[in-house]
Amino acid sequence: MMREMGCDGIQRFIDTYLDGEFAERDRAEFETHLQLCAKCQSKVKQQAMWKLAIKAAAPRELVPASLRNKVMRSIAKESAAVQTRRWVMRIMPAAAAAGLVVIMGVAPLMNRLSWSRAVSADVIAKHQRNLPLEISGGSEQVKQWYAGKVDFPVKPPSFDQVASKQMSGGAKLRGGRLTNVRDRQAAYLQYDMNGERVGVFMFDPSQLPLGAKSKRVVGNRDVYFDQENGSNVALFEDRGVGYAITSDLDQDQMVSLVSATVSH
Ligand SMILES: [Zn+2]
Repeated sequence: MMREMGCDGIQRFIDTYLDGEFAERDRAEFETHLQLCAKCQSKVKQQAMWKLAIKAAAPRELVPASLRNKVMRSIAKESAAVQTRRWVMRIMPAAAAAGLVVIMGVAPLMNRLSWSRAVSADVIAKHQRNLPLEISGGSEQVKQWYAGKVDFPVKPPSFDQVASKQMSGGAKLRGGRLTNVRDRQAAYLQYDMNGERVGVFMFDPSQLPLGAKSKRVVGNRDVYFDQENGSNVALFEDRGVGYAITSDLDQDQMVSLVSATVSH
C-alpha cells in the first residue's frame, strides 16, 4: 500500500500506525524505518503524546503523578521503535479507559494552525489510501447505517447539483466507512464525480480549533482551505458537525461542494 518509505511517507502515516490500522507488512516496513531514523522515531513519540493529551481534552480529573512519571520515564528510557509501539499500546488504552487527564507539556503545541495542518494531512492520507467502503448505497441507507455508530447525525450532503468541468450530473454518493480524524471518531463518505473521488469526513468538532492559512466565507461559514500531496481540503463546521471535504478538484469546485453542504 505504501509505495515509498521515506521520511515524508512515514510522517504522513503516523496516525495510521498509532491507530493500529496497518496491515502487518506495512507495519513491519514502517517499524524498520523507525529503527533506522531517529527523526521519525521522535515524531512518532511526539504524536503518541499528542494523542494522549487530546484524548484528555475535557479536564475533570488530574492524572495521578505516579502514572505521569511512569509515562515520562518510559519516554526517556526507550529508544527502539518496537518499544515505542509497545509503550503506546500499553499506556494509551489504560489512560483512555480511566478517563485520565495526561499533562505532559504538549498542550501549548496545540495551536490552531498546526492542529489543522495535521487534520488536513490526516484526512488527505486516508482519502488517498482508499480503503474499502463498509456500506454502499444511497443517502438514506448510509444515514441509517451510521445511526448508533457515531455520536453525531450523519446526513450525507447532496452534490447532485454540483457541476464539474466534465459533466453536469453532480457527484453521486457511493457509500462510507467508519474512520477517525486524528483522535476522534469520524464518518467517511465517498462520492464519485465522473470518476473523480470526493471524500467527506464528518466528526465532532468540539474543542477542535479549525484553521488554515487560507480562509473563505461560504454560506456565512468560515471555511479553511489547505493543500497537501496534490489534494485540496476544506475544513468547516455546520450545525454542530465538523466537516473535512477532500478531492483533487480545483478550489472553485471545492467551494461548490462546501456550498452544497452547509445549511443556507
Ligand atoms: Zn525518517
